[in-house]
Amino acid sequence: MAKDRSAQLKAIGKEIENLTASPLYEYRKANKFHAVIGEGNPEAKIMFIGEAPGRQEALKGRPFVGAAGKVLDGLLESIGLDRPDVYITNIVKDRPPENRDPQKQEIALYAPFLRQQIEIIQPKVIVTLGRFAMAFILDEFKSPSKDGKISELHGQPLKATAPYGPVTVIPLFHPAVVLYRSDQKETLKDDFQILREYV
Ligand code: URA
Repeated sequence: MAKDRSAQLKAIGKEIENLTASPLYEYRKANKFHAVIGEGNPEAKIMFIGEAPGRQEALKGRPFVGAAGKVLDGLLESIGLDRPDVYITNIVKDRPPENRDPQKQEIALYAPFLRQQIEIIQPKVIVTLGRFAMAFILDEFKSPSKDGKISELHGQPLKATAPYGPVTVIPLFHPAVVLYRSDQKETLKDDFQILREYV
């Protein structure tokens, strides 16, 4: 089963690597960047979904390995988890230029891959990091909260129904926010503790 899931995830990775239709493909190649598919435990109960890779992530081909990743590692440690216990990915799998927000058509282009990753891993809990991932997932699962703001929904477990069954969606602020808004550091830390119930 686990091997099956790994093989399926790998196949998705190959497709993304060859995604010449992406408006970010040429930028990836020109900068010797990598697509960032996701990593972690294919059997994970908890899946983290960020926005899009930054420069460090694109250089290494791994999610959350830059400054925001350090914040995420610290948060995971605070609840006794380690990266290999969870699965971490992004909505958009290539780095947008200058760290700009992902565009609608980019989200739409990469969405089928994220959808497949969720279907393969079948997490019990999806933690969205930032407003883009939150909006995408709540819309995807037709949550009654789908038009809510992250400032109101952060830290609240929301029951939703995925195609494979019930899932709890926990919207969190993006770990990068604490890098420029230190007042939100405690909020993010506090919100993260909710995950203790699900480990
Ligand atoms: N920010 C994200 O949303 N994803 C990453 O992988 C890194 C930074």
